[in-house]
Amino acid sequence: MYNAKRAVNLSRPGPIDPTTDLLSDRASRDGALDVSLVIPLYNECESLPELAARITDVLAGVTEHWEAWFIDDGSDDGSAEAIETLHRADARVKLIRFRRNYGKSAALAVGFEHAQGAYVITMDADLQDAPEEIPHLIAKIDEGYDMVSGWKKKRYDPISKTIPSKFFNFVTGKMSGIDLHDFNCGLKAYRRVVIKSVHVYGEMHRYIPVLAKQSGFTVAELAVEHHPRKYGTTKFGLSRFFKGFLDLLTVMFTSRYTQRPLHVFGTIGTVMLLLGMGINVALTVEWIMGRPVSNRPLLFLGILLMLVGIQLISTGLLAEMITKREHTTTDYLIRDTLS
Ligand code: UDP
Ligand code: MG
Repeated sequence: MYNAKRAVNLSRPGPIDPTTDLLSDRASRDGALDVSLVIPLYNECESLPELAARITDVLAGVTEHWEAWFIDDGSDDGSAEAIETLHRADARVKLIRFRRNYGKSAALAVGFEHAQGAYVITMDADLQDAPEEIPHLIAKIDEGYDMVSGWKKKRYDPISKTIPSKFFNFVTGKMSGIDLHDFNCGLKAYRRVVIKSVHVYGEMHRYIPVLAKQSGFTVAELAVEHHPRKYGTTKFGLSRFFKGFLDLLTVMFTSRYTQRPLHVFGTIGTVMLLLGMGINVALTVEWIMGRPVSNRPLLFLGILLMLVGIQLISTGLLAEMITKREHTTTDYLIRDTLS
């Protein structure tokens, strides 16, 4: 049997931002928490009692200073009432209830705002993620990582999901330079500083490892158990893949160029402008030498390149003006200061 108490060392999670280095003895002194769970859910009422029971069992072997935030993302199947019942039995089970369905990213973002634990763990509410993995995730963080992402190594989902998912993970890995098999696993663990620094919005929950890495945090992967859905149905259709790629573009662009948008717009724009000018200068020379140019397709290409080039440069300059107004030093995450 796996002994959670022995394997999990809550005493000192390694050299990190001093404000986040919550020791368990300090936790008991000032009422701060060791572990926060953040669990987004949308119509998952059948799973909740079993989920809460398993969480309570597992965490009993880790710490008594925990909280589990269930974020009800606009359910209408009685999920909120089920959590209220669980809360009455154990006040460490907590509920945030949205007025309508905002999406998993919104639920995670609000959960992250409320989470107080030194370790923050996210998981799905549909019992596909096993709460029994929590101690393993914490142990992996204690090896010195800021974030650990689960990997559904043996996955129990329909093939319509697993194959596109493999492709999606491959492309995301290549584009972001992060070596993970499974970016979108619901089961993940973080040091608190990570979730307080990373901004999850829209449907960006798929890219938290990318966002974290780009903020300078270390990301590790851990193979975790996965189970077929017992109750209810999946909340994401095939459109997830299309939207997912658009979001990847956003993540890559905003992380690299937010501080210097002209570098990307200006580079492409200048190349196009110069190319267009070159073409049109050559055509002008021909025209001066008496050859007709109005019937040459190249003329239109030259004009197009120049126009688009100027537009891209202007867009870059506008973006620079916006960046200049919005920029503050709080954009930079500071690990330590010595003074
Ligand atoms: N979820 C949510 N809001 C949504 C969609 C999903 O909170 O708009 C929750 C859902 O209840 C589950 C988790 O996000 O706890 C993962 O969703 P799902 O199991 O449908 O995704 P899949 O496992 O099929 O990828
Ligand atoms: Mg699921």
